Amino acid sequence: MRTIGVLTSGGDAPGMNAAIRAVVRAGIYHNLRIMGIERGYNGLINGEIKNMDLSSVADIIHRGGTILKTARCEEFKTEEGRKKALNVLKVFGIEGLVVIGGDGSFTGAQKLSHAGIRTIGIPGTIDNDLGYTDYTIGFDTAINTVLESISKIRDTSASHGRANIIEVMGRHCGDIALYAGLAGGAESIILPEEGFETNKVCEKLIKGKMRGKLHSIIMLAEGIGNAFELGKEIEEKTGIETKVTVLGHIQRGGNPTAFDRVLASKMGARAVELLLNNKSGRAIGMNSNKIIDIDIDEALAKKKRFDKEMYQLAKQLSI
Ligand code: ATP
Repeated sequence: MRTIGVLTSGGDAPGMNAAIRAVVRAGIYHNLRIMGIERGYNGLINGEIKNMDLSSVADIIHRGGTILKTARCEEFKTEEGRKKALNVLKVFGIEGLVVIGGDGSFTGAQKLSHAGIRTIGIPGTIDNDLGYTDYTIGFDTAINTVLESISKIRDTSASHGRANIIEVMGRHCGDIALYAGLAGGAESIILPEEGFETNKVCEKLIKGKMRGKLHSIIMLAEGIGNAFELGKEIEEKTGIETKVTVLGHIQRGGNPTAFDRVLASKMGARAVELLLNNKSGRAIGMNSNKIIDIDIDEALAKKKRFDKEMYQLAKQLSI
């Protein structure tokens, strides 16, 4: 193995740059040539590829986003598109590829691996929706961003005696709402994994108001319902003024936390190590605080476990 490529694909996540840096620096440390592929599988198909040296990843460990840019690429889902990608890899002499992204990107990576290119997946997504790993790169930063917003909303909502619904990302996986909700002391946490009854949310708000609470935070994962309709219903049922804040893309940006930078650095270095050992079709993850790697198919098949204990704890602490 002499030349490896690295790309970021799917939604961007803070910490992707730290992972790119780790792949480049660990690769150069082991005397490999590293090629940066821009705009995910799009750039791979179109040959948007550049040589990466030590200084091309200087001053990026603390930056959100991805210096390689990211994209979604429909063409890569086709046999024809992947054939083009394989040709480009051959032209550039790229024998191993590190793909940083979510489950869709991993599916693409596995197809390349089956076609004979040694490919390794690093989980980069703020959603923390991959079942085989405890954490994905970007999740910790995202929940800290949400927490900062909760603190700010608390200030204003306490001054007015309002309730606030904060809608966060997470269509199928409510981890952002759950972790940020627990850490931010939310009164109610509404997740796609658990149903909810508006009356129960209202009951909690009324009880809180009766014992002198000045404000209430309701965390809502985007996958479970319309925040504005819920806000209206709560106002009608409780008489408590209820504001809605949809955090949106702010959750994707920002400087990665120390946790995400360390996670990304460890995972990037492991990816290079695996390629040097001629491994392919592996997904890197973290289990019980240890960096692991498993077969990508196995990783993709593993269903995300909903942390019911944590959900119950959040409920218990917000009575
Ligand atoms: P996020 O979790 O942020 O959404 P993701 O990696 O899951 O990230 P997707 O849009 O699902 O994001 O996938 C990214 C890219 O991976 C797609 O645009 C496509 O190029 C490639 N990809 C997805 N699914 C497949 C597939 N079945 N076969 C080949 N390539 C795929």
